[in-house]
Amino acid sequence: MMNQNEPFDVVVIGGGGAGMTAALYTSRANLKTALFEKLVPGGQIAVTDLVENYPGFPEGVLGPDIAQKMQAQAEKYGTQFFYDEVTAIEKKPDQSFDIKTVSQVYSARSVILAMGASFRMLNVENERELIGKGVSYCATCDGAFFKAKEVVVVGGGDSALQEGIFLTRFATKVTIVHRRDSLRASPILQDRAKSNPKIEFIWDTAVQKVIGKDKVEGLTLKNLKTGAEKNFSTQGLFVFVGHDPNSKLVKGLIDMNDHGYVLTQESLHTSVDGIFAAGEIRQGAVKQLVTACGEGCEAALSAQAYLEH
Ligand code: NAP
Repeated sequence: MMNQNEPFDVVVIGGGGAGMTAALYTSRANLKTALFEKLVPGGQIAVTDLVENYPGFPEGVLGPDIAQKMQAQAEKYGTQFFYDEVTAIEKKPDQSFDIKTVSQVYSARSVILAMGASFRMLNVENERELIGKGVSYCATCDGAFFKAKEVVVVGGGDSALQEGIFLTRFATKVTIVHRRDSLRASPILQDRAKSNPKIEFIWDTAVQKVIGKDKVEGLTLKNLKTGAEKNFSTQGLFVFVGHDPNSKLVKGLIDMNDHGYVLTQESLHTSVDGIFAAGEIRQGAVKQLVTACGEGCEAALSAQAYLEH
């Protein structure tokens, strides 16, 4: 394993809104900054069609566009992006950190955790087998494959409704299946979805099974109030039932709650001196792009203060 001896002042792990904002602030403060991202920069916004509630964009802004611009802005001030997965963080006796990837060890004086959260699966029969064959977790990525087809969206939050509305650009009909009879999504999205002629709702219902061998042909649905089961014909299943934090890397190192969300104190310090957390990985985060960016900024300023003292 090669050791990159020259330490970074700040290593940011995760390239979503929180991570890229943190990196922008620390590099602009002349701190030597690295950002590690295992997929593509942008996190959840990279797979979001249109962001309508980020201030300054009255017409909305495409998720991938703002992600690209955030990366360019951080790079402009010197952030080094590494497309690599961090596999371990170790605190050394001199208070610095070893940041390990599969092939290298980097050294860091402080760390900002911004790994965000990943989509949750339904965990029903045949779901995993048909991923990419009609089962999807990303409307922006896969929506165009469903031109002139009928699809089902599962979930009752902002993601389900926003992505369900997006899918009406392609699909002839979008059926939103929700496990209760009221939605968690914000009222503006509820109004839009309910007034969209291509969207129908099925309430109090859970998906029991995905039907199909080489592609999705239907779903077995169960009414949770009556217990009645029926088969529902559809060509696509889009699942938007929330997220789980990507905190496996710091399990045992950092204090977290029972669901794996990282606990932070004032100024976004974690339980380990020199490690900060920002964005959706953090317990209490409100999970909006604007707050993720705000938290990235706060964690960056805290890391800066920590390094100065
Ligand atoms: P969410 O708000 O946690 O909603 C998840 C939805 O999935 C809920 O309706 C939940 O039902 C349902 N659900 C959870 N587990 C399920 C299961 N096993 N089977 C069936 N249904 C299940 O998640 P999200 O919609 O992804 O949103 C995450 C965060 O991002 C939120 O804070 C949201 O406001 C934010 N967001 C904002 C925007 C925007 O502002 N435009 C867009 C996207 C996301 P219950 O309601 O019964 O719990």
